[in-house]
Amino acid sequence: MDSAVIHYIAAGLTDRGRKRSTNEDAFAISAEQSLYVVCDGMGGAAAGEVASSNAVDEMVKNLKARNAESPVVEAAEQAIHAANNVIYTLAQRDSKLNGMGTTLVALVTEENRAWVLNVGDSRGYFMRAGRLEQMTIDHSLVEEQVRAGRMSAADALRSPLRNVITRALGTQSSVTPDVFPVDTEAGDLFLLCSDGLTRELSDDMLASILADDLPIGELCERLIAAANDAGGGDNITCVIVRAEA
Ligand code: CA
Repeated sequence: MDSAVIHYIAAGLTDRGRKRSTNEDAFAISAEQSLYVVCDGMGGAAAGEVASSNAVDEMVKNLKARNAESPVVEAAEQAIHAANNVIYTLAQRDSKLNGMGTTLVALVTEENRAWVLNVGDSRGYFMRAGRLEQMTIDHSLVEEQVRAGRMSAADALRSPLRNVITRALGTQSSVTPDVFPVDTEAGDLFLLCSDGLTRELSDDMLASILADDLPIGELCERLIAAANDAGGGDNITCVIVRAEA
């Protein structure tokens, strides 16, 4: 049986939301490097923006410079370490940037293989045949409580501690991403997003929007509009990547 050559199309969008005066999220689509990434920065003043934009830029830069013989997932892991170093060093050197950090969720692809990597509570989802599944596990205090059976998922959404992230880029001298591999087929869809989307929309709502037969750019617009309609309490970012034959 011939296996069809898979290629990927992508679209992304970010929005300030309805409550925040700035946007500390950042994203990049680098089709040539088979890299798609979303970051959600945190820190006082403009530090969150510095962290997230540096993380995205470092990812693209490192993947561009990669040795073509090294597997793309290894290059992505090395890029995450490099990005962590850059942000951590900036934060150490400048008191205004002290304590800044960023989440990261990235997708890299190589023919019919794909890997989602994450640090923090920005999420990667995978949809096949209309079924949406969260691939990543949030690195957050409430997620740890839920997994330990000490908190319900519903309480986690309302918890005053829901913003506490247990892993981030730039806040420590080293960081390890989780890595989730998947074999892709034509029609598969990935969603990378910041928590400004997933705080406002349940997985069922995400699935029902993503199931619409629309260009992926329009799906991004509909996701952001729905999150804003639901309150838009935070910056909202989504990147959709679809595998095609
Ligand atoms: Ca956020």
